[in-house]
Amino acid sequence: MKKKPPFNQEMSIRGANRRLFARSPLVREKLEESRQEFPRYKKDGTRAKKNWVKRQCEVCDKWVGSSKIAIDHIDPVVPPEGFPASYDIWDRITVFLKRLWCDKSNLQRICDTCHDVKTSKERIERLIEKYTQELDRIEIEINYWDNHQNMLMDLPKTHKKLLSKYIAKKKTKGLEKIVERAQNLKNRLL
Ligand SMILES: [Zn+2]
Repeated sequence: MKKKPPFNQEMSIRGANRRLFARSPLVREKLEESRQEFPRYKKDGTRAKKNWVKRQCEVCDKWVGSSKIAIDHIDPVVPPEGFPASYDIWDRITVFLKRLWCDKSNLQRICDTCHDVKTSKERIERLIEKYTQELDRIEIEINYWDNHQNMLMDLPKTHKKLLSKYIAKKKTKGLEKIVERAQNLKNRLL
């Protein structure tokens, strides 16, 4: 039997609200804005009774079946830069709810293909933000070591290992600058 993951209050509140929002009049209204029926044909070439209802993606302008389109927040619900470290759960939830229950101008119809592209772009942006902060810290330590080499004998060894984590991302599209920066920092330790 599959083990149930432990209850996460924050994620449960987020998920429940996302589901509520998905059924809200605002979302329905946005979907209904674009609706076109296309003839559907049976295998023998004759016209089927029911037409094919399609909706238009606002990113690529293609018409796709209703099951292949979603309502998306242009400015994402979870801020790309994340939440400030000083926030507690209720601060984060307040910001999350305000961004989720946005007005119509921040909503767009997006097809599954465009959604995948957008999601992976956002993921890369979040990674760049995170890695940049981490590398900033590492660089400060290396600068310090530069001036106090006889005090921090172990630093090159530990930090070369730290940096290899970023250099290993060579094949991830979009992280080229991070990889290059990590490689340059590593070179300073040789
Ligand atoms: Zn699209």
